Amino acid sequence: MFYFTEHLKTISLKELNRPTFCATHSDERLALFCDTCNVSICRNCALTDHKKHNTQFIEDAYSKLRPRLSQVLDQTRNICVKVENAIPVLDWMQARVNLKADGVLRDIEDSINSKIKALQQRKSELRAAVELVRVSRKTALEIQRKRLEASQDTLQVSCRFVKRVLEEGNYITRYSMYIYDSSFRGQIYTVEIINNYSAKWR
Ligand SMILES: [Zn+2]
Ligand SMILES: [Zn+2]
Repeated sequence: MFYFTEHLKTISLKELNRPTFCATHSDERLALFCDTCNVSICRNCALTDHKKHNTQFIEDAYSKLRPRLSQVLDQTRNICVKVENAIPVLDWMQARVNLKADGVLRDIEDSINSKIKALQQRKSELRAAVELVRVSRKTALEIQRKRLEASQDTLQVSCRFVKRVLEEGNYITRYSMYIYDSSFRGQIYTVEIINNYSAKWR
């Protein structure tokens, strides 16, 4: 079909009206049409190969065909009008498809962006919460450390007293109650701190 229409574009009316000659008998014009073989033939063909076939003059065949050709022409023109009308509709549909696609792309962009924003907000909040816990634990640990250091000092003082008393017997009576009391309290205090520490940060 495509080849045929392309061929029609290049062929002139003069060429179409030019007499055509028989392929078998080159000096004879194609004057008849064989209905049996559905082919144009010359007078010689009609007397030989197509002798017993149904043949008619090309002019007669064309006269019979003409109304049918006119009908086909009208139908083709109608189709042309329909095709002409259909093209703007297709353009309009294409524009609608583009519009719709752009809308969907915008929706996707907006939706994903808002989710990203919400996630970033959540990330900031979580980071802030972790930093808050870090600072508060650091402060608590520093306080515990200072208490432990203070307790260590007390214990060392107690130890020095005990050592001194052991070395200098005269002091035993005078300081025994004091030494016992202070070292005992110091030990109790230390144990409490360690218990608190391990319970909180375990
Ligand atoms: Zn022939
Ligand atoms: Zn024939």
